[in-house]
Amino acid sequence: MTRVVVTGGAGFLGSHLCERLLDDGCEVLALDNLVTGNPENVDHLLTRDGFRLVKYDVTNFVHVVGPVDAVLHFASPASPIDYLRLPIETLKVGSAGTLHALGLARAKSARFLLASTSETYGDPQVHPQPESYWGHVNPVGPRGVYDEAKRYAEALTTAYRTYHGVDTAIVRIFNTFGPRMRPNDGRAIPTFIRQALAEEPLTVAGDGSQTRSVCYVDDLVEGIVRLLRSDHPGPMNIGNPGEMSVLDLAKLVVEVTGSTSAVEFIERPQDDPTVRQPDITLAREVLGWEPAVPVEEGLARTVDWFRTRGGS
Ligand code: NAD
Repeated sequence: MTRVVVTGGAGFLGSHLCERLLDDGCEVLALDNLVTGNPENVDHLLTRDGFRLVKYDVTNFVHVVGPVDAVLHFASPASPIDYLRLPIETLKVGSAGTLHALGLARAKSARFLLASTSETYGDPQVHPQPESYWGHVNPVGPRGVYDEAKRYAEALTTAYRTYHGVDTAIVRIFNTFGPRMRPNDGRAIPTFIRQALAEEPLTVAGDGSQTRSVCYVDDLVEGIVRLLRSDHPGPMNIGNPGEMSVLDLAKLVVEVTGSTSAVEFIERPQDDPTVRQPDITLAREVLGWEPAVPVEEGLARTVDWFRTRGGS
C-alpha cells in the first residue's frame, strides 16, 4: 500500500493517521475543508516527502489524479458541540461525502475504510457492545444527525461492497483522546484538562455515574492500520474496554494535572449514553490488537501537550 487518501486529514484523528502512514512509507494526500480541523495539526508533516494537504469539501465529487491504494474516510464533525452546530454539514458528509469517497475507491480499485463510531449503538441496551448489536438510536433526537449519518454511511459502504465489489472496511471507533484535541471541543477529556489546568471546577454532567471507555490515540491508530492492512470488512470495534465513570475520569484528570480544582455537577445533555464499553473480541482475534497504553499514561501525555501547545 503506497498511496493513501485521508479525508478529514487535518482533524484530530486524521492528522495522527497521516503521520503514522507517512512513517510507514506511504504517500499521503489529506483532503479537508477545515470546518472543524486545523492545518496546524499537520504543519509538521508539510515538509515531509509524500505529504500534501488540499483544502476540499468531500461532499463534492472527489477526483484524484494517479493511482490510489486506499481511501480512509475520516471527514465528519465528531464532537457533540461540533455536530450540533453543524447538523446539516454532518449529515451531508456522512451521506454525500461517504458516497464520493466510496466512488473514488471504486474508480481506483482501492481499499476503503470508513471511520464509523460507537454512537451507532446509541444509548445501548446491550453491554458491553459487540459488533452484532444493532443499537438503540433516536433518529429525531439532537444526536440523530451524527448517529444516523454514520449508520447510513455504514449501509452505503456495505452496499458498495455487495453490489460494486469494492474492498471495504468499517471501524467503529470508541471515545479516543490525545494530543491535538481542541480544548473547547466539548468532549469530556479536553474539557476536564482545560478546566484543571486553569484551576477551574471540572463540569461533570448529571451525577457523573454514566460510564465511558477511553482509548489513547496511538492505540487507536495501531488498530486502524492493522484493519486497513487486513482484508476484514468489519464492522470492527476499536476502543479501550477499560470502563470508568465520568466522575472517576474527572478525578483522574485532577490527579494527573496536580490541580486543586473541585467538581461541579451540571445538567446532562439529552440522549447522553448511560454506558459505553466496546467488546473487542473480534479485534483481538482477527488483528491480534488490544490497547497497550494505560489511561493514566495517555492522560499524562495529553496533559503535557495541552501545557505546551494547547493552552489552558
Ligand atoms: P475532527 O473534527 O478533529 O476531524 C474531522 C475532520 O473532518 C476535520 O478536520 C474537519 O475539518 C474535516 N471535515 C468535516 N467535514 C468535511 C468535509 N465535508 N470535507 C472535508 N473535510 C471535512 O474529529 P476527529 O475526532 O478527528 O474524528 C475523525 C473521524 O473519526 C470522524 O469521522 C469521527 O466521526 C470519527 N470518530 C472519532 C471518535 C473520537 O473519539 N475522536 C470516535 C468515534 C468516531
